[in-house]
Amino acid sequence: MMINDLEVIESDFLVIGSGIAGLVFALLAADKGSVQLVTKKDSFESNTNHAQGGIACVLDPNDTFESHVEDTLKAGAGLCKRDIVEILVQEGPAMVRQLVEWGAEFTRNSAGTFDLGREGGHSARRIVHAKDLTGREVEHALLRTLRDKTNVQMHEHQIAIRLLVAGEGRQRRCVGAEVYDTVESRVVCYLARAVLLATGGLGQVYLHTTNPAIATGGGVAMAYRQGVRIANMEFIQFHPTSFHNPAGETFLISEAVRGEGAILRTLDRQAFMEKFHPQANLAPRDIVARAIDCEMKQSGAPHVYLDVTHLGREFIRERFPYITACCLEHGVDPTRDMIPVVPAAHYSCGGVLTDRWGETSLHGLFATGEVACTGVHGANRLASNSLLEALVFSRRAFERLCRSAGEYPAPSSAIIPREKDSYHAMDESFEAVRIAHCREEIRRVMWDYVGIVRNDDRLRLAERRLDLVRKEIQDYIDSRALSRELLELWNLAEAAHLIVRSALLRKESRGLHYTTTYPEKDDANWLHDTVLVKRI
Ligand SMILES: Cc1cc2nc3c(=O)[nH]c(=O)nc-3n(C[C@H](O)[C@H](O)[C@H](O)COP(=O)(O)OP(=O)(O)OC[C@H]3O[C@@H](n4cnc5c(N)ncnc54)[C@H](O)[C@@H]3O)c2cc1C
Repeated sequence: MMINDLEVIESDFLVIGSGIAGLVFALLAADKGSVQLVTKKDSFESNTNHAQGGIACVLDPNDTFESHVEDTLKAGAGLCKRDIVEILVQEGPAMVRQLVEWGAEFTRNSAGTFDLGREGGHSARRIVHAKDLTGREVEHALLRTLRDKTNVQMHEHQIAIRLLVAGEGRQRRCVGAEVYDTVESRVVCYLARAVLLATGGLGQVYLHTTNPAIATGGGVAMAYRQGVRIANMEFIQFHPTSFHNPAGETFLISEAVRGEGAILRTLDRQAFMEKFHPQANLAPRDIVARAIDCEMKQSGAPHVYLDVTHLGREFIRERFPYITACCLEHGVDPTRDMIPVVPAAHYSCGGVLTDRWGETSLHGLFATGEVACTGVHGANRLASNSLLEALVFSRRAFERLCRSAGEYPAPSSAIIPREKDSYHAMDESFEAVRIAHCREEIRRVMWDYVGIVRNDDRLRLAERRLDLVRKEIQDYIDSRALSRELLELWNLAEAAHLIVRSALLRKESRGLHYTTTYPEKDDANWLHDTVLVKRI
């Protein structure tokens, strides 16, 4: 259908993003209605595709739900919501079995049961994995299964610009999105009874990150601009061990490697984690990242080492084929050489605030996966809980929409923007250098001033610098020019701004937020989320 010269596509559900969160929801929803799924690049380009370690899940008869809940709460440093964590843990096994039904093949032991791995912060072996390529296995199984669902239409190379909201005040509800087709350089309007934001994380806000290029914070930015509640953005998890490659792209050395016995060492080969935590190399991620940061700052070294040489050649190659191959490509043989590693931005614990059904503060808008803040992670995520969170809460969002279908009627097309509001494609050759410059500046400011160890002076400095960049970007946006790079930059700038504002709000150190201005935890005043809402 064409309205005001715009193509309008109507469906029951609109899904934005093709990682685990979006695909799981789409697969389930396809049996209840029509689904349009938009994704800004090729369908498999997602953080999901890069996940190595696995999915935390209680499947061993000697393991217990209580133990997984307690480990999660402990990592979350007082800010996890216990009832939400219980849902995660108890509903996890059924969803892992569902993945197997959809064709995911996880590594099994000789008895045919899952080969459960162990990771930092977990008190039992409970990580279901497909060697060290778990995310790729899951993503491909989901995409394969989706191909048979005639009710789902996937649109690649379409980037959501803006959420469409109908009604005023308490009647406001999300009814779709404006989307830019980057191949055909045109805007398409999607209308739906409900919208799922499944846009993933925002690691690209930082100069060093384990996240692929798609992780630019689009979901959080779009939701914030529509007045949706955003929470806990200060809690950015820095993965302690990404491969140190001063020449360019890095890759992750999974936590599972330390789970199997790897040891962190200084450049003069001394093991150092015992000094920082009783669990030494198996301490929670934030402790390990800060310990490495501390060792590097004290010694001036550009990296530390991760040593697996004692684990045996066959075991290393068999258990970590992907990591071994990546290291070899960079001239390091992990069976003989120690691996140079540094911390890098990895995961956003905060995001769009949701209830136990994945619904946000805007009726009709759901958020699941890394873009969401469900209350599972609190101030720090326990390793391998994020794929599980996406699985469980995407199913719950679907369940909520099934149970209360009457609350989500089809929207009226009166919401479609008028012709005078139309966009035009940006002259990319002319503006590319300015966009690249702004992007670089945001990432460097965030790395230098809003990293692993923070203080208020640097945070304020970051805020001022970001304000200038944001103003420049807003001028482009106001001119209604469009390109994928510009939209991503707009989102990165918004996400960076939200991280800095939240970090300035929290006047204590807790979990992943460590500030020398307030180095202690302050339970009396700060045992709650930091929530940001834009007045509109
Ligand atoms: C290297 C690495 C290793 C990891 N290992 C593990 C692990 O072992 N276990 C674990 O539990 N977690 C792990 N994680 C975290 C986990 O992979 C992610 O949290 C999870 O995959 C997020 O899934 P998602 O569906 O929310 O987002 P993603 O998988 O990132 O998918 C987001 C999708 O949204 C699309 N998108 C974004 N913005 C827009 C827009 N504006 N318009 C249209 N489309 C858009 C993207 O193109 C993408 O398709 C790892 C992460 C990384 C980076």
